[in-house]
Amino acid sequence: MTDHYAVFGNPVAHSQSPRIHALFARQSGQDMRYEAILAPLDGFEQSVRGFITAGGCGANVTVPFKEAAFRLATQLTTRAKAAGAVNTLIFAEDAIVGDNTDGAGLVRDMQTNLGFSIIGKRVLLLGAGGAARGVVLPLLHEEPGSLVIANRSAGKAMKLVDSFTDDAHGILSCSEFSTLAGQSFDLVINATSAGLANAELPLPDGIFAPGCLAYEMLYGRETAFMRRAALAGARVADGLGMLVEQAAEAFYVWRGVRPDTVPVLRELRGA
Ligand code: NDP
Repeated sequence: MTDHYAVFGNPVAHSQSPRIHALFARQSGQDMRYEAILAPLDGFEQSVRGFITAGGCGANVTVPFKEAAFRLATQLTTRAKAAGAVNTLIFAEDAIVGDNTDGAGLVRDMQTNLGFSIIGKRVLLLGAGGAARGVVLPLLHEEPGSLVIANRSAGKAMKLVDSFTDDAHGILSCSEFSTLAGQSFDLVINATSAGLANAELPLPDGIFAPGCLAYEMLYGRETAFMRRAALAGARVADGLGMLVEQAAEAFYVWRGVRPDTVPVLRELRGA
């Protein structure tokens, strides 16, 4: 019997997830169907419950429903609790389990696809929204030398740091963009949505250390952050690998099979 999965979002037509999961399913011989479902902005829960009643086995959740999915879940994984958001739902007999695979996807993209080790590195995380929150714990687990969070609204970065103090063993701190002057980093991750508005971040010169990896979470366009990093001599990556890797992690959670992401990423990049 074919198992049914879906991604819920609004808008959702642009989502690459149906294509990615179809490629994973074909590659691993899994009998499953994966569709995109446009949930009304005020009707996420109803949409998901309808899908469960119709026999759905699991779902991904994208903007703007990740916090609603967190509230809907009756059980949460440790990484979903840390992220405060859910991007993967598993429908069990007596539970709706909420998970978050975004952070694992980012770390796996860096390690596997980009060959970049985070251990001991000076890491700068730009942004303090949902995407930033979701990657803090997975980054800390990789034992960087330091992790600095900088955000336009400094209070939000401070709050984020406070909520991870127990896991951070003294290596986590926050900063304003302007007070980053004079510091340099081996890894700079842009988890702001500035690129969506073609906005430039007010970053001081010199933050990209020699050999730095500049990671833009956004994908599908070249952002001002990417241009700036490239000009400074940094190696630049976009978030397409993270997208594919978070999908692979969700696929693994649902099916117990880890897909080979390399050909899928190659196919998406070629398109
Ligand atoms: P949120 O809306 O939760 O947070 C947005 C963040 O961006 C905030 O920190 C906000 O700062 C900051 N920001 C927005 N505009 C500007 C600007 N002009 N200058 C400086 N800072 C700005 O968004 P998300 O955290 O959900 O998403 C962030 C990015 O990550 C998006 O581009 C999204 O596409 C990408 N993403 C990629 C994924 C992938 O798989 N590749 C997965 C998830 C997200 P402030 O607090 O001051 O408002």
